[in-house]
Amino acid sequence: EIIVETVNLWKVYETETDKVKALKGVNLKLRKGEFSLLMGASGSGKSTLLHLLGTLDKPTEGKVLYKGKDLSLLNSKKLATFRNKKIGFVFQFHYLINELTILENVMVPLLLAGEKKSEAKKKATELLQIIGLGYRLSHRPFEISGGEKQRAAIARALINSPEIVLADEPTGNLDTETTASVLSLMRELNKKFGTTFLIATHNKDLEKFADNIYFIKDGILLN
Ligand code: ADP
Ligand code: ADP
Repeated sequence: EIIVETVNLWKVYETETDKVKALKGVNLKLRKGEFSLLMGASGSGKSTLLHLLGTLDKPTEGKVLYKGKDLSLLNSKKLATFRNKKIGFVFQFHYLINELTILENVMVPLLLAGEKKSEAKKKATELLQIIGLGYRLSHRPFEISGGEKQRAAIARALINSPEIVLADEPTGNLDTETTASVLSLMRELNKKFGTTFLIATHNKDLEKFADNIYFIKDGILLN
């Protein structure tokens, strides 16, 4: 089953002085449960592709289809609801809210989706326990390690049971050992829940974790 598909995807950034062709006709299909890497040099278009797949930005030309549906037809409110429920994001920097506890941070997407507070608390606690952060529920982000923060960010990305998780250099800020543990965790969650993962990275150490590796060069997806 194909979860998301891009059809002849182009992205051209226009600046005052210049036009940058960041994606040049990318065709990509991601299947349910697939755990893949997107590799390429800095500036090759990885972040741009993840942004378009994540419906955070619009293509210049071409389409992004979720289970065959063109989401560009949705209005911005419906699109935001879709994104919150169906797509999880993990970034190089965790973007946890420092004023909230780890538990509260992970509850946020559930509350945004209209879940009752008591139910959100129960679900977030359960997932944090699965992820091995059960002992950090009432800590705040600045009180825990970099690896733990990234695990919390992964819990937040997964809490609404998304179809797909898009991760942009999720280990870019971590040492080798922590990188391996964060990747193992993502792989474990992929197996447990059948969630599709696409991880943009230029770290070759991650290759051994992946089912598929997509290479991108100057905006062109190589096969
Ligand atoms: P990567 O994630 O592989 O480093 P990006 O998708 O960030 O690559 O960038 C692809 C190309 O698009 C680069 O040449 C980059 O400078 C350019 N680019 C990215 N975002 C913008 C933007 N908002 N405005 C103009 N150019 C951009
Ligand atoms: P069990 O461990 O009893 O088999 P599950 O693995 O189905 O139960 O769910 C355990 C926890 O993981 C629950 O809090 C549930 O909300 C959460 N969960 C279930 N499916 C997903 C999913 N696809 N992505 C993220 N979290 C999930």
